Amino acid sequence: MKHELPKLPYSYDALEPFIDARTMEIHHIKHHQAYVDKLNAALEKYPELQERPVEELLKDLNSIPEDIKTAVKNHGGGHHNHSLFWTSLVSPSKAALAGKSREPSGVLADEINKNFGRFSDFKEKFAASAVGIFGSGWVWLVKDGTGKLFIVSTPNQDSPISQGLNPLLGLDVWEHAYYLKYQNRRAEYIESWWSVVNWEEVEKRFE
Ligand code: MN
Repeated sequence: MKHELPKLPYSYDALEPFIDARTMEIHHIKHHQAYVDKLNAALEKYPELQERPVEELLKDLNSIPEDIKTAVKNHGGGHHNHSLFWTSLVSPSKAALAGKSREPSGVLADEINKNFGRFSDFKEKFAASAVGIFGSGWVWLVKDGTGKLFIVSTPNQDSPISQGLNPLLGLDVWEHAYYLKYQNRRAEYIESWWSVVNWEEVEKRFE
């Protein structure tokens, strides 16, 4: 079994004007594809690992042979992180037409309020964490084994799954995710990104 680049659930221009079509296209067919290809290349020598879903590989990195451990962490992480990223986003016009809220609702909203204060407090903490990442990485809303929510950041393409955490929502703050449109203005990219978060999907992951 070879890992494959997943199709996006929307067109490249669906997230305009918040995330531009050119960035989406390069991010998907160049960057994400490269993680998939390099993961497959790393697994070539190990047919028994090729059968395992990427989540399983990342959950137990210690079981991965030493000579490909870093490649699986980087490229398996890159593959899984991006797969989560695409499906965490939704076209803002589609969401508006369907009357979808730009905020979480239900049990997830309650848990966010319980752990972080108001939704605006959560956004502020999450954004501060994203702005504060030195170099390339991700910031995440995760659930631990007891169901408690945390904001964590990971360097490079490290996955929260490898720390026993369940990622609900992740923000890619590698420059390749925003540089064409926002250049060095990472904070502006983060602020725009909230407008395309698919809270319905995040709620499903939480439940
Ligand atoms: Mn990326």
